[in-house]
Amino acid sequence: MNNQNWVRFVPLLVGLIAILGTMARGCKEGPFGRKQLVTVAVDQENQLGLDAYRQILNKSEIIGGGPIVDAIRLIGRKLAVAADDPELRKTFRVDQGRRFNWEFNVIRDNQVNAFCLPGGKVAVYTGIIPVSVTDAGLAVVMGHEIGHALARHGAERMSQSQLVQMGQTAVAFSLGGSDPSTQRTVMGLLGAGAQFGVLLPFSRSHESEADHIGAILMARAGYDPREAPKFWERMAKATGGSQKVSEFSSTHPSHETRIRDLTNWVDQEAIPLWKRSNQMPTQPLPGVAGASIGGGRGSLSPSPTPKSGGTRGPGYEFK
Ligand SMILES: [Zn+2]
Repeated sequence: MNNQNWVRFVPLLVGLIAILGTMARGCKEGPFGRKQLVTVAVDQENQLGLDAYRQILNKSEIIGGGPIVDAIRLIGRKLAVAADDPELRKTFRVDQGRRFNWEFNVIRDNQVNAFCLPGGKVAVYTGIIPVSVTDAGLAVVMGHEIGHALARHGAERMSQSQLVQMGQTAVAFSLGGSDPSTQRTVMGLLGAGAQFGVLLPFSRSHESEADHIGAILMARAGYDPREAPKFWERMAKATGGSQKVSEFSSTHPSHETRIRDLTNWVDQEAIPLWKRSNQMPTQPLPGVAGASIGGGRGSLSPSPTPKSGGTRGPGYEFK
């Protein structure tokens, strides 16, 4: 190897050192003790979440008020209180001092979807309400979304792409002297590798972790956690087994896997927590047609669950 060839690899070496340094600084313990890489500061994460939230809300039809908005905000508040529980924060590895600026809005849209942006900015699309059927069903959805924010999945994803970009930049510099078609091939492979090799499996584990956190949160808030696997059964039926439903979409675990995992977490962790919590009877959501719920208001016994036939409301549509 002559001198010139060696020099070409200097940017690669510098990039590698920078990547390793960033990884060492950003490595921390995530939810349930998982190793997590977060290089983004909390303030930055909150700001990015807030900016994106305002942009989305500006382009959406927000429902200003009424029974469904009240119901969603009540569920949100209860889940947010549960998220402040010091024991749960320890389990989820959320800093005890961290304050989330929770905000809950309802968007009129047929998408079967909901999201929570970093920092605690939540939106529920009206399309997911007929699948949710009950307050507990919606607590499954919102608990999952809040789980993403508590676990800092957004920041983790940002950190991953930051590292991928550093790597791509270093390689681009090293390829400076190569012919354009080699450069294109290598960069293309790197891009594909970044998406499928790094980002996608992480996203799947994020979804599963958000399910886990959500089941615990809803139980702590008093919602019957046994509604979680039932919600996903309805979701599987509603989407015809396909995964093509936006946030709950391509990177999500298969319905069977998530129902099996959820059932385990519910039995082993969520139900014992729920029994010690202020249990609430499952109530139908306002305006959901065909919801048949047993169990009287104020009953402390676990309430019967809705029949699965009652999940499709009028105007129900998938995108
Ligand atoms: Zn998710």
